[in-house]
Amino acid sequence: MKIHEYQAKQLLGRYGVPVPEGEVAVTPQEARAIAEKLGRRVVVKSQVHVGGRGKAGGIKLASTPDEAEAVAGKILGMDIKGLTVEKVLVEAACNIEQEYYLGITLDRAAQKNLLMVSAAGGVDIEEVAASTPEKIARVLIDPAVGLCDFQIRQAVFGAGLDPRALSGAGKFIQALYKAYIDLDCSLAEINPLVLTAEGTLIAADGKITFDENALFRHPELAQYAEGSEEDEIEAEAHRRGLQYVRLGGEIGIIGNGAGLVMGTLDEVKDAGGTPANFLDIGGGAKAEVVANALEVVLLDPNVKGVLFNIFGGITRGDEVARGITEGSKRLDIKVPIVVRLTGTNAEEGRAILAATSLVPAETMQEAAAKIVSLARG
Ligand code: GDP
Ligand code: MN
Repeated sequence: MKIHEYQAKQLLGRYGVPVPEGEVAVTPQEARAIAEKLGRRVVVKSQVHVGGRGKAGGIKLASTPDEAEAVAGKILGMDIKGLTVEKVLVEAACNIEQEYYLGITLDRAAQKNLLMVSAAGGVDIEEVAASTPEKIARVLIDPAVGLCDFQIRQAVFGAGLDPRALSGAGKFIQALYKAYIDLDCSLAEINPLVLTAEGTLIAADGKITFDENALFRHPELAQYAEGSEEDEIEAEAHRRGLQYVRLGGEIGIIGNGAGLVMGTLDEVKDAGGTPANFLDIGGGAKAEVVANALEVVLLDPNVKGVLFNIFGGITRGDEVARGITEGSKRLDIKVPIVVRLTGTNAEEGRAILAATSLVPAETMQEAAAKIVSLARG
């Protein structure tokens, strides 16, 4: 779950990370009032759940309250990568001498958290990561031991930070790591960490993403959820109690069991298709459940075909076939549906399917190949 910069700064502030003084405004007049209160040069920053705001024109400096009001008027309502700016953060501008990057995220391949530090921070960090990755010092963190001081030194020296920033940056990293662990983050980032002309360090930007699977441990973070930014179909699926994840492709996928569904995604990819979603209907496949699942999958306008992959275990194949047949009859379906059925009473199940327009398949590979070619028309 993403949160806004001002919220990330509030949280990081509680962990002892120095952040510029500032407040959020929803109108240009409010922005002016905040600038008046701060009584100095300010930066007006769009608050949207997307990076690269600076390059998109969503961050502007203002020397006077008049200017703050004017630039807030331009930024509020602006479209940044498909998101409308509804709030701006107005904060004391900093006197930037250097911009550093600090980030902690999960390295899935290494199965460890990863600390990254770079002296080449700022708006071009993606470019730095792509073309000069050696400019980013990386340290893997042992989950049992945590982040050690010597590793922090390795990272800040490895990144070649200015000597004036070395010890201060270490404190930022400690605080960032504590926040990352305490709040079950999947990303905690400060970019840029600014070394000011006065020689002090301050977090000019902050980004935090929470691991949604751990949100149940943090009821206090529920206040940050913004329904409007969740995918509409996912939201609908969750209201209906379905385990659905939208993936953006063209083949709708429904199966029973998370592992089976994930295997199906791979098979569809291998067959040259792109999965539209993950949907696990769990054990059994009663007509209501199937209809419910199909309806949600078909809400996605990209879906050009649906693949059922069902393993008959305790629930017998013939029951499942009846569920799919009845469930699909209740809906007006315009795309091809392939059903791969195996396990207990699979033959009886396939016999039931044979009398319908549903296309039966015996193996996962066959099913994937069939749905991909049918979806292509
Ligand atoms: P992002 O583009 O969404 O990552 O937003 P940032 O908060 O990182 O701001 C982008 C850039 O604005 C920074 O990298 C700075 O180069 C520039 N900038 C200039 N003055 C300021 C300032 O006073 N504060 C901040 N935050 N950024 C400034
Ligand atoms: Mn930034």
